[in-house]
Amino acid sequence: MDAETLRQYLEYYQDLGIKTLYRRGSVANAGEAGHEERWPAPQEPLFRILDDIGDCHRCRLHEQRTKIVFGVGNEQSKLVFVGEGPGADEDAQGIPFVGRAGQLLTQMIEGTAKKEGIPLLRKDVYICNVVKCRPPENRTPQPDEMEMCGQFLSRQLLAIAPKAICALGSTAAKYLTHSKEGVTRMRGNWYKWNDIPVMVTYHPSYLLRAYNVGPKREAWEDLKKVLHFVYD
Ligand code: SF4
Repeated sequence: MDAETLRQYLEYYQDLGIKTLYRRGSVANAGEAGHEERWPAPQEPLFRILDDIGDCHRCRLHEQRTKIVFGVGNEQSKLVFVGEGPGADEDAQGIPFVGRAGQLLTQMIEGTAKKEGIPLLRKDVYICNVVKCRPPENRTPQPDEMEMCGQFLSRQLLAIAPKAICALGSTAAKYLTHSKEGVTRMRGNWYKWNDIPVMVTYHPSYLLRAYNVGPKREAWEDLKKVLHFVYD
């Protein structure tokens, strides 16, 4: 386990009010090459995280938000989609990916699943963002805002413990993987967040631009890959 992962776990347990942690004893093959000792996956209901967010003022993004956009979908989903942050429609409704980009995401999930013979609807997966409040003028969230709000995303992901995560767009991809590469290079490839495989693809709002026919096709390929990985 690397230092960043350990920090996230410790913050998580601290949030739960647990101040003392004991390291588990070695298991039989602990000394073998490739063995990684893991903390037990914490099980936390999502409503507790939402409760902790409350009427959040922890970063400047609260100033212009209408609604906090926590996440939507199946809390036991094997697949979680993570975007950047809410836009205008999401801010008004408090639900992620409900605008034009959201409609495209729904089409992509349901259309690809149907074509691949996987019985899956949008409501069967879980969808959320790195930051829960809309950045003004849809600007990219700043590093300190993502750092602050990211603790809630980490807790959501730990609570759901999906088989895979699909990062939508550069901001989510970089945040989850700490990669400095652009999304064009990252897409279609597997990374990891805390041992959970992360597939990177384009953000649907990028795909809405009419001239992005190539990336649209690539995004469908990426989705196919992640759906087969999770549901085969
Ligand atoms: S973006 Fe996150 S940390 Fe910032 S105010 Fe909203 S909920 Fe709180």
